[in-house]
Amino acid sequence: MSRAILPGATVGVLGSGQLGRMFALAARRMGYRVHTFSPGDDTPMGQVADREAVGDYADLDAVAEFASRVDVVTFEFENVPFEAARTASEHVPVRPRGEVLHTAQHRQREKDFLHGAGFPTAPFEHVPDRATLGGALERLGTPAVLKTAGFGYDGKGQAVIHAPEQAEEAWQSIGAGEAVLEGFVEFEREISVVAARGCDGEFAHYGVTENRHRDHILDVSIPDPDIDPKITANAVEIARGVLEALDVVGVLCVEFFLTHDGELVVNELAPRPHNSGHFSFDACVTSQFEQQLRAVCALPLGDTRRLRPSAMVNLLGDLWDNGMPDWRAALADPSLKLHLYGKADARPGRKMGHMTAFGDDGEDAARRVIAAREALTRRP
Ligand code: AMP
Repeated sequence: MSRAILPGATVGVLGSGQLGRMFALAARRMGYRVHTFSPGDDTPMGQVADREAVGDYADLDAVAEFASRVDVVTFEFENVPFEAARTASEHVPVRPRGEVLHTAQHRQREKDFLHGAGFPTAPFEHVPDRATLGGALERLGTPAVLKTAGFGYDGKGQAVIHAPEQAEEAWQSIGAGEAVLEGFVEFEREISVVAARGCDGEFAHYGVTENRHRDHILDVSIPDPDIDPKITANAVEIARGVLEALDVVGVLCVEFFLTHDGELVVNELAPRPHNSGHFSFDACVTSQFEQQLRAVCALPLGDTRRLRPSAMVNLLGDLWDNGMPDWRAALADPSLKLHLYGKADARPGRKMGHMTAFGDDGEDAARRVIAAREALTRRP
């Protein structure tokens, strides 16, 4: 049995964005100290952490110094270089282990893992260079989606190819680097399962969440959508299998496409709390952030039960286009929960915060939370 890391200890986080911020809030509530390491300062997590270490992930001496001052290291951002996780692991446990990061931060490795372990994926081809794109397109046909192999998120670094003549334009648009070509999935909807695994293999999950995107960025998440319970059970079993196969200690999200025939296709993995699990902060007995803390500190996992039906919307920087959003108008709904991440610069498409609302059921909560977001920019 792993030794528990108890309240009073210090948890180090590689990365410093909103996921780290919400993790830090959960950890501090339980009496832990939290340190963050990233290249930025006055970051969303740094603002609420005990210590904000500023350094480059490639500066392994700085990573080692950071790790030597904490009791365990986790991450909130999967594009941390593997070497940083490996260096940290020479000092303290890193959870999830660096190999999970290594797999999930590169689409080809992730797809090879999923396919090799028997999990359902869209057909895919490795496209290491421009010369291989034509053959890959011939084998997969169109439409197909070309995605950069590394460092993509929120639909960045991807292009849909409808006909072979568009190959060159797509190749240039994703930055002309190593890529993966995927068959286009005609999905009925997108869903995800956020799940956690403890040091001793204990498993917990947050059920299925339906995710509606706008411009490739998550827009609305609704937990417990009205889908066939067999599909929910299947999605949870796939998530359990992924966490076990990768020997994850921590939280991991599996994103799926649900096809019109009720088939599940794994789109991608995120080895950390996920935007689609933010509802759990206010709507569950144990949030995904507390769950990550419990898992990485070798504590028993918490209860994921819902307190009330809920739905979440993201607040992107676009909402600031005509000045500060009208927070008072949204908060006129007394049960609405507002989360802002402390980012000073409201750029279009940037995730600035989110809101969660409650309702009689998920759709009712979604109506309320969307109405609250509309109220933010309604001018007299
Ligand atoms: P990703 O960054 O891979 O999560 O992709 C962002 C979004 O693009 C997804 O949430 C889907 O809406 C869409 N997308 C990505 N891959 C595919 C695919 N193979 N087929 C259809 N839509 C896709």
